[in-house]
Amino acid sequence: MDKKEILKTSKEYEDSLRAMRPNIIKDKLLKEPYEDEDIQKGMNVVSLSYDYAQDPKYKDLMTIKSPLNGKIINRFNNIPQTKEELTARLRMIYTLSTQVGCAQRCVGGDALWALFIGTAQLDKSNESKTNYHQRLLKYLRYIQDNDIAPTAAVTDAKGDRSLPPSKQEEKNSYVHIVKETEDGIYVSGIKSPITMSLYAEEIIVVPGLQYAESDKDCAVAFAIPGDAEGIERYVLGPEINSLCGEFCPAHGTKYLNKEGMIIFNNVFIPKDRVFLCGEHRFAAIFANLFATLHRFSYLACKPAIYDIMTGTAMLISEYNGTKGKYFLSNTSNKILEIYKQSIIVSAMAKSAVVAAQVTESGAIFPDPVYSNMGKYTASENFPKAISILQDMSGNLPTNLPYPELLSSEEYGSHVKPLFARKKGISAEDHYKLNEWIRVFSASNEGGLLQFGSKHGGGNEEAEKVAIYGNSLRRMSQCKKMVKKIILDK
Ligand SMILES: Cc1cc2nc3c(=O)[nH]c(=O)nc-3n(C[C@H](O)[C@H](O)[C@H](O)COP(=O)(O)OP(=O)(O)OC[C@H]3O[C@@H](n4cnc5c(N)ncnc54)[C@H](O)[C@@H]3O)c2cc1C
Repeated sequence: MDKKEILKTSKEYEDSLRAMRPNIIKDKLLKEPYEDEDIQKGMNVVSLSYDYAQDPKYKDLMTIKSPLNGKIINRFNNIPQTKEELTARLRMIYTLSTQVGCAQRCVGGDALWALFIGTAQLDKSNESKTNYHQRLLKYLRYIQDNDIAPTAAVTDAKGDRSLPPSKQEEKNSYVHIVKETEDGIYVSGIKSPITMSLYAEEIIVVPGLQYAESDKDCAVAFAIPGDAEGIERYVLGPEINSLCGEFCPAHGTKYLNKEGMIIFNNVFIPKDRVFLCGEHRFAAIFANLFATLHRFSYLACKPAIYDIMTGTAMLISEYNGTKGKYFLSNTSNKILEIYKQSIIVSAMAKSAVVAAQVTESGAIFPDPVYSNMGKYTASENFPKAISILQDMSGNLPTNLPYPELLSSEEYGSHVKPLFARKKGISAEDHYKLNEWIRVFSASNEGGLLQFGSKHGGGNEEAEKVAIYGNSLRRMSQCKKMVKKIILDK
């Protein structure tokens, strides 16, 4: 490894996972979790972020010199300080997302970023009687020095939504501090679903909600290796065994988002890895910082997904002969409805960068209204875009003959006429496109994408709260303006 840069190869990343204590459970404890096909596909997504960082074509985009250790590091582990860095971060996530759908690695990077800002605020409010920010810097340095891709566990199981943690019958509905000693804290509880958690070396825990004094044991943030004593990680979701075969898109055969649940059973967290410990007023601040930063990341991956859907819609109309003669045909309008979302969300991303503010910590923070509104818009319109694809493709994606038949001597010539469309497009190519649309819009994986679009980074209600919370002044100015227009003569 060049001394000037700390960039692990994807093999080194995978080797470090394999060297960990197996604590990953599917229907039973997996002795060799990283040989599991679905988990391997998830690892491949993270591996790509390591590969691209070494690839001369993407190196500038994927890496940056760290102000902390002076070395070239992966951009995901950098805390952005300038608008240029924000733009580059968005471009990096967009580029990866066009290949893998969800780049996944942003979640841990966003948590480091949120804690960087939050711990500085917390120490300041404690008049520097606490040293959370120094602890965070030490941890960040460890992450950068070892080119680790951590994940972020924010969402608690939450139990009965109408009750605060202290009123829950099931105490483990929230990750909480069980005991505090001179050396650290012990925590228990459930965080789920956590992207990357099955194939991350480190887990960063951030509170997911605001807490009152009575729930201060849940106001906790920390970092811990994924295989620490007392941690169990569970593979979530059904087997994705329908994504296989020669006509399945590379996306499904190579890459997958495999979610995990993390159970903490009285896990010891050493003091220097604890970044919030009972300061309940700061739970909401940490949660909101993370949420806005993560929604900002969505402003890069969502345009990538909408662009993929735009291209898919263009191709299917071309293959099916439904493109239409005129520019503003019925089909063009449908395609435009999908494409429009990519443009709107990208514009929100650019606005979030333009209006970004440097915080006292030195880290820059994208504008919260544009970040939240962009994610809100992207989520709101996702089902519509899926529905347009389903409409444009007709029945074929969910009604494909078995792929083996296409090359069968006996039946190949019988079934191929089903795929006869535009001249020059082979039955195999048409099959592949329809299979791609099925994966996207009517498979377990496509369902995950749709749920991820709705709930990932928090759902629309949470986004609306953030938009309102950050817009009150402007909105009351709107009211004053109208009063002036209609009442002042
Ligand atoms: C693909 C995917 C990936 C994810 N990755 C991560 C990750 O990496 N890390 C992480 O921490 N989390 C992750 N999440 C979790 C995500 O952040 C949560 O799903 C999201 O915050 C919503 O929480 P929930 O699922 O518990 O739904 P709920 O909070 O139960 O919300 C369900 C509905 O109930 C409503 N509701 C909730 N509480 C109340 C109430 N008190 N009164 C009235 N209505 C209420 C909500 O508005 C919503 O309409 C992921 C989720 C998905 C789908």
